[in-house]
Amino acid sequence: MTRILTVVGARPQFIKAAVVSHQIAKNPGVSECLVHTGQHHDANMSDVFFEDLAIPPPAHHLGIAGLSHGAMTGRMLEGLEGIIKAEAPDWVLVYGDTNSTVAGALASAKLGVPVAHIEAGLRSFNRMMPEEINRVLTDHCSDLLFTPTDEGTANLLREGLPPERIVQAGDVMFDAALHFGKLAAERNLSAAARGLCSGDYVLATVHRQENTDDIRALKKILEGLSEVAMQLPVILPLHPRTRARISAEGLEPLTTKLTVLDPLGYLEMIALESGAAVIATDSGGVQKEAFFQRVPCVTLRTETEWTELVVAGWNRLAPMDTSEQIAATILNARGTRGADVAPYGDGASARKIIARLIDQ
Ligand code: UDP
Repeated sequence: MTRILTVVGARPQFIKAAVVSHQIAKNPGVSECLVHTGQHHDANMSDVFFEDLAIPPPAHHLGIAGLSHGAMTGRMLEGLEGIIKAEAPDWVLVYGDTNSTVAGALASAKLGVPVAHIEAGLRSFNRMMPEEINRVLTDHCSDLLFTPTDEGTANLLREGLPPERIVQAGDVMFDAALHFGKLAAERNLSAAARGLCSGDYVLATVHRQENTDDIRALKKILEGLSEVAMQLPVILPLHPRTRARISAEGLEPLTTKLTVLDPLGYLEMIALESGAAVIATDSGGVQKEAFFQRVPCVTLRTETEWTELVVAGWNRLAPMDTSEQIAATILNARGTRGADVAPYGDGASARKIIARLIDQ
């Protein structure tokens, strides 16, 4: 029996871990102990994902949230060390690029327990992004690196990581979109249920630190979205960090033309993505989901880790200098299509990952 200890803590990790956990549950040769660090803890940022995506309840919950990056990562490191020692797994599995990811990888590597990183090799080449630091450190202390794309694999090879550690398994978010997309359709979740006409609204998300901590950037984005809203409804499910910044800076008047929602459950999010005319986002996951739904995407950042979608014409980076440029890029994206590409594998990434972990 291969024993896996999975570390999750943030919204995108619940989604990625869901498809891998389902695969583990189907396989008698492997068992899972799930640890939730507590990084995201609100009902609509955590609980709803465990319920909707049928993720097993965590065996351990560290309850660590709302601290500075260093304090949060440090406390997670300490908490995870105790749990990894007690559980003595064959593998520690970490996802993506959050503080929970790097804490899990480092705690495990220091104990000599093998670490596998899912979504390895992604790079923005912007060291001001906390996620970039987390990715680089996690990749360099992992024993197995599951990359989603050619680009991820190439980045790791360029950094000198040994080819035998790298497995290009495809993107588990593609598995998730296929599997849960069906479920969303079965439950009749759709844009119409929110009174929206399919193909006639913009769906936006904003939560990257570079866009929330810099008030000028946040203002520009809200003003750009408001300009778009003069022509097309703009739906903005708001991340708690962004909501807190808007409130602290008194920016509510810049949101009056927008339809501001609380964070959505994943199934409803997929449904709204599929009906959007354009998706405007600074999220990594949402850029790919736009492509999975063949909806044009505008990335509200000056760089992206998912460059293959820019090359293929499904995604474009918004010039972030003025709100007018942001609005024009979104409106011009409407009705565009990219090339017929398939950079994220075949939708069976979770199966390949588990097969490899058992095989190791
Ligand atoms: N998501 C969601 N509800 C929302 C906004 C996003 O379920 O209100 C999902 C989205 O569909 C994607 C994931 O959360 O699967 C992306 O997470 P996030 O944008 O927080 O992080 P990132 O991908 O940028 O790391």
